[in-house]
Amino acid sequence: MQKEQLIAKFQELYGEGGEIRTYFAPGRVNLIGEHTDYNGGHVFPCALTMGTWAVVRNRADRKLGFYSLNFEKLGIIETSLDELVPNKDAGWTNYPKGVMWAFEKRGYELTHGMDILIYGNIPNGSGLSSSASLEVLTGLMLKDTFGFEDISMIDLALIGQYSENNFNGCNCGIMDQFASAMGKKDHAIFLDTNTLKYEYAPVVLENAKIVIINSKVKHSLVDSAYNDRRNECETALKELQKVTDIKTLGDLTEDGFEQYKDAIKDPVRQKRAKHAVYENQRTIRAVEALRNNDVKLFGQLMNASHESLRHDYEVSCEEIDILVDLAQAMPGVIGSRITGGGFGGCTVSIVEDATVDRFIEEIGKTYKEKVGHEAEFYVVEIGDGAKIV
Ligand code: ADP
Ligand code: MG
Repeated sequence: MQKEQLIAKFQELYGEGGEIRTYFAPGRVNLIGEHTDYNGGHVFPCALTMGTWAVVRNRADRKLGFYSLNFEKLGIIETSLDELVPNKDAGWTNYPKGVMWAFEKRGYELTHGMDILIYGNIPNGSGLSSSASLEVLTGLMLKDTFGFEDISMIDLALIGQYSENNFNGCNCGIMDQFASAMGKKDHAIFLDTNTLKYEYAPVVLENAKIVIINSKVKHSLVDSAYNDRRNECETALKELQKVTDIKTLGDLTEDGFEQYKDAIKDPVRQKRAKHAVYENQRTIRAVEALRNNDVKLFGQLMNASHESLRHDYEVSCEEIDILVDLAQAMPGVIGSRITGGGFGGCTVSIVEDATVDRFIEEIGKTYKEKVGHEAEFYVVEIGDGAKIV
């Protein structure tokens, strides 16, 4: 949808006149470094050109008008700056409201209300972080509207994460909001989630594309398993800390892990910690491979990442494994893995240009035969972080 169409829709809903502003914040895909963000490790996400847009106009009173073209049935949801509490009936508005609440908690006073139109082209709940994009979008809108110049883009990521943790009750790490706020066209972000130190690494795929497949399944395990994995890793860390001086699992190398792993008493916990340690090292090596223009090695590390998520961390599922197995077996596919939290959602693959059409057609067909519904394919580009548009 074009900006002009969004503005026209806004005026149709809320009336004409006044100064209208528009903002964009992207979704993201993580190329490698999965389930490392809460283990003190590295991640390597990039912002997509897919994302969420907002059209906004100030109001003289303290009321808030919310309308999403993705949730049209709910119509305009009216609330106010004096009612920034979660509301189950207007579920999606809890994301922007949470960010407003987080601004006020930080001491930034929001002195007037707004009418807001939202539109996004990221599939919701598929692991491409539509929620983080909505949070960063709201943060940018508030920063610009109220002239909070001392708030940086990294602050917007932190505020988004804070609101998702504390207002929406989802215990996510910083990766998603960071990628949405700080993304850079044609680059991925090599982020140390422990220190928030980051570097941009150019993703130059001369004869290949990044292709995301949405399995269109989401198993109900997601939330409980996520919390289980976090707890398992925390316990494993405490066991390791009895025998070696580390702050996070990200501080260990593979050799270090092998040396100390017997301190972890439970074999399942040992596998979880192994994934966290090895995946972090794989991520470091993958970024190096990319810097050396060794896309082939990058792909092999993606494949190894999937293997580890499937068998050691056990966050894959049958549908995702079908997609990854089909992709990895196809000549012309450089690498393929699950991306996002797991138990459904999306895979990410690097596919040679000449293979992309076949990839979509053949995997699409076989997936439908095996699973019974269609997968969705997105040939994506790496875009910039949140911006005024
Ligand atoms: P993910 O972040 O992986 O896409 P989540 O379940 O964390 O999945 O977030 C999806 C939720 O974010 C949606 O159910 C909705 O509440 C909110 N959301 C995302 N995009 C939009 C949008 N364009 N309009 C309204 N709400 C949205
Ligand atoms: Mg989310």
